Amino acid sequence: MTVTAERAAVRTHCPYCALQCGMTVRGTEIAPRSFPANGGGLCQKGWTAGSLLTSPARLTTPMIRTGGELRPASWDEALAFIVARVTGIRAEHGADAVAVFGGGGLTNEKAYLLGKFARVALRTSQVDYNGRFCMSSAAAAGTRAFGVDRGLPFPLTDLAGADAVLLAGSNPAETMPPFVQHLRRARDAAGLIVVDPRRTPTAELASVHLAPAPGTDLALALGILHALVADGLVKKSYVDTRTTGFDAMWRIAARWWPERVERVTGVAAADQRRVAAKLASARNAYVLTARGTEQHASGTDTVGAWINLALALGLPGGEGSGFGCLTGQGNGQGGREHGQKADQLPGYRGIDDPAAREHVAGVWGVDPADLPGPGRSAYELLDALGTGGGPRALFVFGSNVVVSAPRAAHVADRLAALDLLVVADVVASETALCADVVLPVTQWAEEEGTMTSLEGRVLLRRRAIEPPPGVRTDLEVLSGLAERLGQPAGRFPADAETVFTELRAASKGGVADYSGITYDRLRKEEPLYWPVPSPDHPGTPRLFLDRFGHPDGRARFVPVDHIGPAEPPDAEFPLQAITGRVLQHYQSGAQTRLVPELTEVVPEAYVEVHPDTAARAGLAEGDQATVTSRRGAVTAVVRCVPSMRVDVVFLPFHFPGEGRANLITNPALDPTSRMPEFKVCAVSLSGSGGA
Ligand code: SF4
Repeated sequence: MTVTAERAAVRTHCPYCALQCGMTVRGTEIAPRSFPANGGGLCQKGWTAGSLLTSPARLTTPMIRTGGELRPASWDEALAFIVARVTGIRAEHGADAVAVFGGGGLTNEKAYLLGKFARVALRTSQVDYNGRFCMSSAAAAGTRAFGVDRGLPFPLTDLAGADAVLLAGSNPAETMPPFVQHLRRARDAAGLIVVDPRRTPTAELASVHLAPAPGTDLALALGILHALVADGLVKKSYVDTRTTGFDAMWRIAARWWPERVERVTGVAAADQRRVAAKLASARNAYVLTARGTEQHASGTDTVGAWINLALALGLPGGEGSGFGCLTGQGNGQGGREHGQKADQLPGYRGIDDPAAREHVAGVWGVDPADLPGPGRSAYELLDALGTGGGPRALFVFGSNVVVSAPRAAHVADRLAALDLLVVADVVASETALCADVVLPVTQWAEEEGTMTSLEGRVLLRRRAIEPPPGVRTDLEVLSGLAERLGQPAGRFPADAETVFTELRAASKGGVADYSGITYDRLRKEEPLYWPVPSPDHPGTPRLFLDRFGHPDGRARFVPVDHIGPAEPPDAEFPLQAITGRVLQHYQSGAQTRLVPELTEVVPEAYVEVHPDTAARAGLAEGDQATVTSRRGAVTAVVRCVPSMRVDVVFLPFHFPGEGRANLITNPALDPTSRMPEFKVCAVSLSGSGGA
């Protein structure tokens, strides 16, 4: 790494989560800066992000697997090797034999160029990304109800005016601590309501903590909604003028009165009524959801149930009120807008829409008929690798599926069955270590690019330092590969601003319209929330104030019913496992496990259990435990937590090897979003000798 000569403090944003806290980088020194999302705060991950820039684990040389070992190679050799293998595989098995897997942490430019690379340079339909694992149910539910999916359709600073906020399946006090400052008024007004099976740090802050059994929060939302209707608290004028579908929705919710919901969820009927009354009496209220509601086989409907509640309260599109979803990955919002999803083209357009295909093909300079159709969703794609009819080669950018995908051992087996695995990464992640070719790429502060935060605000991440010699940007990699695959020079630009200019054209007229956003405007830090349909447009901080995105301008109540977890507990697997994040680590941990200050605090996999549950398994604090499901077993250190439900264990998913929480998770998919059920599966607990 070479630090720029002047060592100026460069204004940029954190490399990790979707809050995209403002920070400055001077050399490798990090400092927070005043920015609305973080108000001058950073969490431990942000403060220590400078360690990523000097990590000795950094990859700086391409590698090719030869005789079972990865050996250094030149860029020319590595790219030529890839192109020769891809060309052979396509000739033998067809274009869909080559697949591409992206990530929700990639910049908008990378997400855009990756989708274009798949569909134009490779002509494959087999492209999807890890955002399918963490935001797709919210996206599907938001689109269904509102006609537009933007995580927070309002600036998150609006939350500071709320006297009631219901957080369902969200733990921001641990995952994005600076966010909590926006909840101060709700906390002061005793209006912070947290729905979570665990007593998380966020639940500790709450006035009301509802702890439903895992996988039952859809029923809980129905119970609160039922109480609202039964007690005459529905905002009828709003329902009549701004929504459709109430009656069909109510035909199901009418059967879920609070006492019945109490039997399913364990949440007292009186508490359900208390929450309904609190939300209805608030002057300004919000309902917010996150992964806890989404990562279920019925995740889309679960988010939909909370949206129904918010609509009955008259919140979405109101002044100082609303419904939103807290996105997790750094570019979780932008990552789903620019065409790296199996079913989407840039501008948040559907790939089956003839007008969308025509428009995007025009920007790309190709025949719309040559654009592939929809491909497999993320888990289905991984599950098909190396099978008859499945992809034989895979490119992975910005993802570590060996740790982060459900049923992780099976996914590793599928990777091993490939003829070619190419991984572009900053460090030797667990997935990179399985690759045939590893390509070392630049990271956040070494490159320029845009991100779209959880509130739909587009931000510029500036280059603060020069990258180490030998690494290339992902854009340079895609550009170089495309040219070697026969694409005309210039069709795949490697410069971020040039790619963004093309992205703007591709997004024009789409739901997520970036056409009026320029790097110059972003350099001035104009608060540009999409859509921004022209260069003189100020952006759209608040959506839905006058109308929702459906043709009739109304939001949709959607009838949803409680189903419960795909894998209920039984005699063999009597407990339920929840997976999630901890303060010190981010996603698969590939970055944060390299930061000494963070690993000092949380160095290894652990399992949180109630002391009685541990004792029944013959375990005590600090013991090595084995958590076993139908798909595998995780080894983790026991942490006894008296606030845990006795029927639940919790595992963070940031750790590799035998501590991988995703060795046990269930890939049961939501039928609409194709999101796996990470949040609950049936398990047993035993000493490390096994069940
Ligand atoms: Fe902010 Fe998230 Fe970075 Fe923490 S990880 S500093 S909350 S952007």
